[in-house]
Amino acid sequence: MDRTTHRAAVLHGPKDLRIEDRPLPEPTAGEVLVAVRAVGLRGSDLHYYAHGENGPNVLRQPTVPGHEPAGVVVGRGAGAVDLPHGTAVAVEPAHPCGRCALCRAGRYNLCPLGTCFGSPPTDGALAEYVCVPGDFVHPLPATMDIRLGALVEPLAVAVHAVRRSGLQPGARVLVTGAGPIGVLVAQVAAASGAGSVTVSDVAAARREFAARHGMATVDAADLTPDPERAHALADPDGYDLVLDCSGVGPALVSGIRALRPGGTAVVVGNPNRPLTDLPLAWMQRQELSLVTSFRYAAGDFPAAVRLAASGRIQPAELVTAVFPLERAAEALDTALTDRTQLKVLIEPGGEV
Ligand SMILES: [Zn+2]
Repeated sequence: MDRTTHRAAVLHGPKDLRIEDRPLPEPTAGEVLVAVRAVGLRGSDLHYYAHGENGPNVLRQPTVPGHEPAGVVVGRGAGAVDLPHGTAVAVEPAHPCGRCALCRAGRYNLCPLGTCFGSPPTDGALAEYVCVPGDFVHPLPATMDIRLGALVEPLAVAVHAVRRSGLQPGARVLVTGAGPIGVLVAQVAAASGAGSVTVSDVAAARREFAARHGMATVDAADLTPDPERAHALADPDGYDLVLDCSGVGPALVSGIRALRPGGTAVVVGNPNRPLTDLPLAWMQRQELSLVTSFRYAAGDFPAAVRLAASGRIQPAELVTAVFPLERAAEALDTALTDRTQLKVLIEPGGEV
């Protein structure tokens, strides 16, 4: 390429996203240069855009958001993985240290020294080009739509959550929260041998989307336990497994109350407020297990690519709107305010 600059969407503060020319990134040793074709927006992007912060992470300097990218390889630094020019890839946004005990054990999502694309101050992928460690790009099958590549990251979250759940064949599974992660978790659970998968949400539109994709649904309000029965034993015919993808405390508690004795609850969504109302004494009496799941680790991205390529799940159907990079602010506003949206994509249009 003979160009020296590229365009990037840069977040300067809440609701202050600017399209800027930046120097074209140059891959250093071990890195590949990726022309970005599609980036999915996620809750954390929306938090930074709306409030300038996401949980404990605060935007303190202009940062490029976006951490669900797919694109094509257009360059490589010394010693980087030798993928042919133009290879379509999903980009894994985690940048763990690679040397600590957790990284060496494959649990690099827990690396204390790790950073992540699009988490300030680390720039993300809402740009025409990004440099990425070569070990963290995952080639896509030639037949796969590049937009589907941008859904590999949330799909990897779902794969990791189902792995962490210890799902058994035939299990009765409840997924609380029918946003993009909840729908993907439900699809992965079904593809992993669940006997039944039920999805709950407070929003009728989201329940209807899940129902159109063959899932049983239940209004989250109907899961709320009767306070009169708060101390009763759990229903022996309850769910074997609940995966909470809502990030909302009461939904997690309702899901836990819907378990059978000895069942397992998995926290997948990031709780948006401290959870102080877990019925721990009751959970102990039922010998319920509480498991947490954070991002994805060794093997999850390749598994997500294979699952998407297999056609057994349909992540592309989650895409409800697509915007060019120039309209990135409009894309973020849409994702933030339009509750009918599931997954909003931005296409930066980096050229090969
Ligand atoms: Zn590490």
